[in-house]
Amino acid sequence: MKRTKKCLYCGKEFSTQSAVKKYCCIECAEAAKQDKEEKEQPPQ
Ligand SMILES: [Zn+2]
Repeated sequence: MKRTKKCLYCGKEFSTQSAVKKYCCIECAEAAKQDKEEKEQPPQ
């Protein structure tokens, strides 16, 4: 079953059959992942 979701990174709506998918494309998934990793790093 197809469902419409909103990308957590760019906010664009996209269709997916996966209930766990959060991002419209691999670029957004990677960018969000990198954002998170940068935030979790301690300040130098
Ligand atoms: Zn996106």
